[in-house]
Amino acid sequence: MNQFNKWQIAQANQRRANAKALLNKGLNQSQVAVRMGISRQRLSQLLSIGKHRARKTLTKNIDLGKISPATEFNCKDCGQPATEYDHRDYTQRLKVDPVCHACHISRGKKRGSFLKRGNGEGKRNGRRAK
Ligand SMILES: [Zn+2]
Repeated sequence: MNQFNKWQIAQANQRRANAKALLNKGLNQSQVAVRMGISRQRLSQLLSIGKHRARKTLTKNIDLGKISPATEFNCKDCGQPATEYDHRDYTQRLKVDPVCHACHISRGKKRGSFLKRGNGEGKRNGRRAK
């Protein structure tokens, strides 16, 4: 890891701490994003950095040919052709299951990751549910 990466990570950690402090003050994610001068998507990445790092590492390994694309497998849950990989644990970046999109969504629901998003205020969840 080079100096620039270390600097970037330190910056991200600082910004994440700032974001969490603002969220704890009762601001919602949109307000925090505006306050920090970043997009809501960027804020979401910042808050769930483990997930984004895991995905980045996985994509890189697929690009390098170290891991076969999910489409070369069948879904671990239903046996249909897989379309994507599912991380059961974002700290284990390369431990993934090939799954189809439908099963990936239902795994997320079982895990509660779709409901845990945001500030628990349910704005996104409500939109998703439509
Ligand atoms: Zn499936």
